Amino acid sequence: MHELGLVTRVARSIEEVSKEEQLTRVASVTLEIGEVSGVIPEYLTDCWKYFRAKSELLKEAELKIKEIPAVTLCEDCKKTYSTLEYKKICPNCGSSSTCLAAGDEFNIKEIEAC
Ligand SMILES: [Zn+2]
Repeated sequence: MHELGLVTRVARSIEEVSKEEQLTRVASVTLEIGEVSGVIPEYLTDCWKYFRAKSELLKEAELKIKEIPAVTLCEDCKKTYSTLEYKKICPNCGSSSTCLAAGDEFNIKEIEAC
C-alpha cells in the first residue's frame, strides 16, 4: 500500500496549503510523476477516490497526473537518452557511466480551488 501512503502525504500538503490560502474546497490537484519513480498512476487514482470521500476539503477534487519521461545522462559523451529504452548503457558511446537526469519525480504541481 505504498500508494496510499503517498496519497496521505499529498492530502496533508494540500490541507496545509489550503489553510494558508484559506481555501475551503479543492477542485483539482495536479501531480508530476516520473516514469521510474515506482508509482503506478492507476493505483494512485484508486487510492485518491477512496481517500477524498472522507475529506470535506477534497470531496470533489479531481486527481490529475502528469507523467514525466525518464531521461539518463551519459557522463562520458554528455548526451541524454531514454532510460526505459536503453537502461544504464549509453546508446551513443556504449559507456556505463550514466546517471538518471529526470524521471524519479513525485511533486504536487498545482492545486486548483473551486
Ligand atoms: Zn555516452
